[in-house]
Amino acid sequence: MGAKSVCVYCGSRAGANPAYLHAAEELGTALAREGWRLVYGAGDVGLMGVVARTAQAAGGETFGVIPTHLMKLEVGKTDLTRFVITETMHERKKVMFMNADAVVVLPGGAGTLDEFFEVLTWAQLGLHGKPVLVLNVEGFWDPLTGLIDHVIAQGFADQSLKSHFQSVETPTKAVAQLRAAFAAEG
Ligand code: AMP
Repeated sequence: MGAKSVCVYCGSRAGANPAYLHAAEELGTALAREGWRLVYGAGDVGLMGVVARTAQAAGGETFGVIPTHLMKLEVGKTDLTRFVITETMHERKKVMFMNADAVVVLPGGAGTLDEFFEVLTWAQLGLHGKPVLVLNVEGFWDPLTGLIDHVIAQGFADQSLKSHFQSVETPTKAVAQLRAAFAAEG
């Protein structure tokens, strides 16, 4: 079994609750300790920067992918193990996902939601079976899971939509889930 890569989607801001920052720190450190490579959007801002810096500090490999027009805005973090610049956002998301064995979603904004829903809809269509974990830090994602329940209740998706991701409360639980998933894959 080769080294695993975990794609982290998260906010380009830090958010209002310090718990989000702490979760990002814990996750970055834990990924590195497991020997897993972090794949992310290559920004040095908000939770993105925190996950990357903590993974690096713990000796982990980091793989960042950023579109050329966001290099300035998100302060492209060029000291990663691998740093890839794409032409478009679509390419960025594709390169990130293709190079990952699993996805973890930390708190974030519209960009994070876009990334989550993209991998969720791909899973719904049977295009991938990679584990997708929503890190529900202090209930941050409760409205998201509530929205998905609502969509199902109103007949716009099957109950099985919920089987394509798992909600976990802490980075420690996320790592435990990923370990189990990777072990099952062999
Ligand atoms: P946010 O959660 O909005 O802070 O964004 C998190 C990441 O998603 C950042 O790297 C953004 O560049 C990216 N992002 C923002 N908007 C979009 C979008 N429409 N499509 C794809 N990614 C986006």
